[in-house]
Amino acid sequence: MRNSLLFKLLGAFLLVIVIGGLIIGFSTWQATRSAFLLYTTRVSQTLAETLVTPLAEYYKVNESWNGVDLYITANLTLGMPMMGAAGQGAMGHGMGQGLGKPSPNQRIILADPGGVVVHDSANILTGQPLTDDQLGKGVPISVSGQLAGTLIVVQEDASPLASAAATFLLSVNRSILVAAMTASLIAVLLGILLFRQITAPLGKLKTAAGAISRGDLSQRIRVKTNDELGDLGLAFNHMADDLQNAQTQRRRMIADIAHELRTPLTVVQANLEGMLDGVIPADSEHLAILHEESLLLNRLISDLRLLSIAESGELVLEKQSTDLSRFLPGLLDKFKPAALEKSIRLEYHQDSDLPSVIIDSDRIAQVVTNLVANALNYTPEKGEIKLSASAMENEVRVSVCDNGSGIPAGELPLVFERFYRVDKSRARKSGGSGLGLAIARQLVEAHGGHIKADSPVYEDQSHPGTCISFSLPNIK
Ligand code: ATP
Ligand code: MG
Repeated sequence: MRNSLLFKLLGAFLLVIVIGGLIIGFSTWQATRSAFLLYTTRVSQTLAETLVTPLAEYYKVNESWNGVDLYITANLTLGMPMMGAAGQGAMGHGMGQGLGKPSPNQRIILADPGGVVVHDSANILTGQPLTDDQLGKGVPISVSGQLAGTLIVVQEDASPLASAAATFLLSVNRSILVAAMTASLIAVLLGILLFRQITAPLGKLKTAAGAISRGDLSQRIRVKTNDELGDLGLAFNHMADDLQNAQTQRRRMIADIAHELRTPLTVVQANLEGMLDGVIPADSEHLAILHEESLLLNRLISDLRLLSIAESGELVLEKQSTDLSRFLPGLLDKFKPAALEKSIRLEYHQDSDLPSVIIDSDRIAQVVTNLVANALNYTPEKGEIKLSASAMENEVRVSVCDNGSGIPAGELPLVFERFYRVDKSRARKSGGSGLGLAIARQLVEAHGGHIKADSPVYEDQSHPGTCISFSLPNIK
């Protein structure tokens, strides 16, 4: 539980809130501090500007800064403009009207045109020259266009303002803290509700996955949402479907293989027992039956082996350029005796511009042989079988069509499945195990082609007949 996703998500939520609170607190502190500094500078600046006029008047009247100490101490009132000071005569004339003593926390420094301090209310720099930098912070005093001196007002002790700012900051930070704690509480409550919607389906998924790993493939997830979790649930269900299908197919295949092997083995066993008991003579006729069954078993096993190799994609094709116009008719030749026996007409037709294809000719021969053998098996006497090859845009299409029994439309796609036989009893008689078309499909697909079955209705026939055709990519 300690490492659960719910706790991690809640932790992330709280971390974001704490970091947010810290960032807001720090930036408020910074903003308040710079606003406070700006304010004290402005106050000093405004005061300096206010004092410049009476001081200029003083200089104009006295033509020097002699006695200015006394004048400032006695007359200058901070923050009050010196109205009516102009035109006053000697020091002290009318000066008392609006000027008083400077505020104790504001230091007034007056420098002469040469930058030497002529008055320092703190009495530290008097008589000393100021640097250009220090002078730059002051306000120049001009008399008749000439520089008479520079006035600098320094906020010496800003403690009342500073403590006001500190109080303000404290209350802001307290509010931020309260807000962050309230937000954290709400976040935890909301987070529990919200994140449970994420973690609960994941928990169900974990349970279902555990059950599947223990072999219960019937487990499915009820998908309620249309989001990524819903997609995950759907993907899980698809996976479970596929696993279940694969398991069903595997079981069916094992049952089919066991069934197919049992039939010839039963025949062999019964015959051998009969021979041992002396009921069946061990003559060449009966031994031939046993031989035939063993051949059938052998074929079945090699078909199964080929199919499993092809299905696992391990089939190695030895491809080479093949001229179909010579290759295909050659394959028909070996069926001629069987066709003659059933009075079936074997035809071959091809497009004139048939290109060469790059194929494993042994494997494609196996495909065509199976299709023609099927056609011969399922076409009655006096029927017709046509092998044709035509050139399409990017492929060559090979078809084997007959006018035999046909395949019911609903079963057309099924004939390519392992052990599938439309008429099982009939196929059994003819020795078919239902693997031929499954192998043909694997071999064609290994060449990058497709195979399909059709049941075309011929106009002159009462039954539809069968057309199995496959494509081979035409790689030049
Ligand atoms: P195998 O080829 O393994 O000896 P098979 O011929 O029965 O056995 P497939 O070649 O896979 O098996 O064919 C599957 C089934 O499709 C056949 O059993 C048959 O029912 C049907 N089928 C195939 N070709 C034709 C055809 N030309 N006409 C009618 N039915 C066909
Ligand atoms: Mg067959």
